[in-house]
Amino acid sequence: MAENYDVIVLGSGPGGYVAAIRCAQLGLKTAIVERENLGGICLNWGCIPTKALLRSAEIFHYMQHAKDYGLAAEKISADLDAVVKRSRGVAKQLNQGVTHLMKKNKIAVHMGDGKLTGKGKLSVTKDGKSEELGAKHIIVATGARARDLPRLKADGKRVWTYRHAMTPPEMPGKLLVVGSGAIGIEFASFYNDMGADVTVVEMMDRIVPVEDADVSAFLEKALIKQGMKILTGAKIEKIETGDKGVNATIKDKAGKDITAEYSHVIVAIGIVPNVENLGLEDVGVEPDQRYHIKTDAFGRTNVDGIWAIGDVTAPPWLAHKASHEGVIVAEAIAQALGNKDVHPHAMDVRNIPGCTYCHPQIASVGLTEAKAKEAGYEVKVGNFPFIGNGKAIALGEAEGFVKTVFDARTGELLGAHMIGAEVTEMIQGYTIGKTMETTEAELMETVFPHPTISEAMHESVLAAYGRALHI
Ligand SMILES: Cc1cc2nc3c(=O)[nH]c(=O)nc-3n(C[C@H](O)[C@H](O)[C@H](O)COP(=O)(O)OP(=O)(O)OC[C@H]3O[C@@H](n4cnc5c(N)ncnc54)[C@H](O)[C@@H]3O)c2cc1C
Repeated sequence: MAENYDVIVLGSGPGGYVAAIRCAQLGLKTAIVERENLGGICLNWGCIPTKALLRSAEIFHYMQHAKDYGLAAEKISADLDAVVKRSRGVAKQLNQGVTHLMKKNKIAVHMGDGKLTGKGKLSVTKDGKSEELGAKHIIVATGARARDLPRLKADGKRVWTYRHAMTPPEMPGKLLVVGSGAIGIEFASFYNDMGADVTVVEMMDRIVPVEDADVSAFLEKALIKQGMKILTGAKIEKIETGDKGVNATIKDKAGKDITAEYSHVIVAIGIVPNVENLGLEDVGVEPDQRYHIKTDAFGRTNVDGIWAIGDVTAPPWLAHKASHEGVIVAEAIAQALGNKDVHPHAMDVRNIPGCTYCHPQIASVGLTEAKAKEAGYEVKVGNFPFIGNGKAIALGEAEGFVKTVFDARTGELLGAHMIGAEVTEMIQGYTIGKTMETTEAELMETVFPHPTISEAMHESVLAAYGRALHI
């Protein structure tokens, strides 16, 4: 007989496992189904192992610049295998952490391929054996995978997706990174710091195109200074993969063809949602025009009792968005099952921060200056460079700035955009402010600790109103 649950979560990434924990906290009999690794892409192949790699690259970078700090570090070298081993160890530790959390919260784990077989019904198949499960509610949290370039299929040898780039068979000599979103730029930064000759090619007219244009321009200059080649507004015309490398002809912004041989290529042109073979069509779940599952702000699909969260739904495709949706959906299900003490709130994607862990780091929340103007706002914009911040200078990290965008009429904080050291830790300050619908007045009245780089956040707000103190 089918085992029955209140909730089954299909997929155990940061969306799925967090949803399962919240369901269990709310007293719901909960199961999770996973075909690969508990923790999903984020813990095993995404956010965390890349940050472990980037940490090694960062330390290597500092060792090479030891002299700048009055120190000597001689005969420095990098052991890529050891760097990768450390990163895999970190991923494993976190995967085990999720296993522990499932046990602690009494969540039943079913390993195997999950498929909806009817309303409230799901089959799990592993090694040719299937079991049937039943639930009042099912949360689809199956995530996404790397998007392929039709002419450039990843083979794991010369052409890599993020998975290959995270466990490289060898150190690339000359690397072409296709795509300059967060994933492409983080790998470009990692391999550049590790000593590869890196070229980034981007179809749009600037790198990190979702960020504020000032951030893109600043990052491009910084990466070029670090030795990277950046081709924006550029298109791959021809590409041939051989045993020894990849020969690519790229049409640059001016229409000129650049032909070069690369030892390896990383394709980082986005993601496609994992919606195939889930039985979604059979139960009538509707996709959006990009084939992500369509939901409302509480994660409800068009089919009663089926919910969806994370990368399999609309953007932004970020781990913290997936987890936040997991909590909302769990609370909405508990409420639907009669719990009167939970009050789920609707997801507001305007307040989701985004971070890229290249060198220098970038972080942002809310509208860019251009998007705010497009939306019809009259804006007040503040800009404060790290060179005016004592802590940044003391750290030897004076490269960067903080930009804030306010509604000139009401003073509402519309967006914040930062580039420089530690900004991925600092963005949360503005995110809290934005979530609380703060205005310039509260931010100006806030006391920032000295000396910290966060003082640049204060100064940026002051600058928007002509009151910056240290510039
Ligand atoms: C290289 C890289 C770096 C990244 N860095 C960051 C970062 O720094 N910060 C950030 O916020 N985001 C980052 N991301 C994005 C982040 O990993 C995703 O947004 C996040 O993992 C999405 O979570 P999810 O729960 O929706 O899905 P996923 O994490 O993709 O998990 C989905 C799970 O469902 C399982 N599954 C799928 N189909 C089935 C099925 N039929 N049956 C059973 N199980 C199934 C999969 O095996 C997987 O484990 C990064 C991504 C990559 C690739």
